[in-house]
Amino acid sequence: MTKVADDALRTAVTDLMPLASEIFDDIRTASLDDEGVTRPAWSEQDQAAADILLMAARAEGLATRQDAIGNAYADLEGSDPTAPAILSGSHLDSVARGGNFDGLAGAVAAVIALAAVRRTGIVPGCRLTAMGTRCEESVWYGIAYVGARLAVGAMERSEFDNLVRLDSKHSIADHMADQGLRVDEIWQGDPIVTATNTKAFLELHIEQGPLLVEQDAPLAVATAIRGNLRHGDGVCHGAYQHSAATPRRLRQDTVLAVTELLGRLEALWHEIEDSDDPSAVFTVGKLFTDPDHHALTKVPGECHFSLNFGSTEQHTLDRARDAIAALTEDIARRRNVRFVLGDAVGSSPTPLDLALRAKLHDNADRRAIPCQEFATVGHDASIFARAGIPAAVLLVRNADGSHNPDEKMAMADFEQGVQVLAATMVELAGS
Ligand SMILES: [Zn+2]
Repeated sequence: MTKVADDALRTAVTDLMPLASEIFDDIRTASLDDEGVTRPAWSEQDQAAADILLMAARAEGLATRQDAIGNAYADLEGSDPTAPAILSGSHLDSVARGGNFDGLAGAVAAVIALAAVRRTGIVPGCRLTAMGTRCEESVWYGIAYVGARLAVGAMERSEFDNLVRLDSKHSIADHMADQGLRVDEIWQGDPIVTATNTKAFLELHIEQGPLLVEQDAPLAVATAIRGNLRHGDGVCHGAYQHSAATPRRLRQDTVLAVTELLGRLEALWHEIEDSDDPSAVFTVGKLFTDPDHHALTKVPGECHFSLNFGSTEQHTLDRARDAIAALTEDIARRRNVRFVLGDAVGSSPTPLDLALRAKLHDNADRRAIPCQEFATVGHDASIFARAGIPAAVLLVRNADGSHNPDEKMAMADFEQGVQVLAATMVELAGS
């Protein structure tokens, strides 16, 4: 890109910020809940988000379309219509009473980036496409990334047919039909997004942790998407016994057994983090005894807990799995209790594309925008990466986390993100 074109693109992005704010506000209004916003996957609210976004795209001269399952797209044609496209976007749905920017920021950023390129008169070498996906959040149907998975052809019909919305108890097909979507078409012909028709996928997303606030930087390029190893409903079985009458050697105390397990797993986590894998995280989200049976004067005979390891390194997840097996066996034998962990569920870590990461960094550097680098959590980008499309994630500073109405992303930080995104898309498209 020439210096003149680069400067024009920068100005166009800045000029488009009022439009971005307007899109965010209109979509917030269309999905307001008692607190925060609620945009269930395949609902009036996430369809309204798609409609508002695509209307804004059309007003900027972009072509728009929706696929058979309602993923929303805006296109800016390039000089070579047969060349694989550069795709950018994120999800339109939200959790219940969540924040407006989780997901939506990436879909809006992509549309604004395309509008900015069009306003400057730059003709990219290939098509640039902005995408708003449906159903990234797992809270609605129990699994994440449904829209992205259907778009890349990574979901079997049988798996789809079994999906039921957790609150309404209606099937996913019913909810799609309510939105007038022609579901069957998604399995006819080739997938919509493939490694053949798409050269790269870039996702801008708000950061969901506190690192950018701590590091005082507006942006980060994600190194990889963490995989995880989870036991959602672990139980330790022992015996309810008299608290004063039972000597230690005869106790089957499940709370002390579980807390020993958790303490030793935390020590393992520290060791992994300190030695070779700073991306490792460990969370015990649930820990409780049965209120119908527990009492101040009883040895606790049953204790429930969850285990959740995350890492960008498969060897860390393997190590955690082996440690859980060895520790539960050792503790059960010594303390005369029994652990039932159920099946482990989880996902593999997803590496992100080195060349794309470098380009995002270069464009931030060129604009003198401070840009950090660290691992991130699950995003649609992992689905595109697994479909063989080089993918990268650009994180934007956001105070107070996400999946809650308190999330805060400053529009000034968002603008920095769109600056980097637009320049990188143009660079990748060539001319
Ligand atoms: Zn998200």
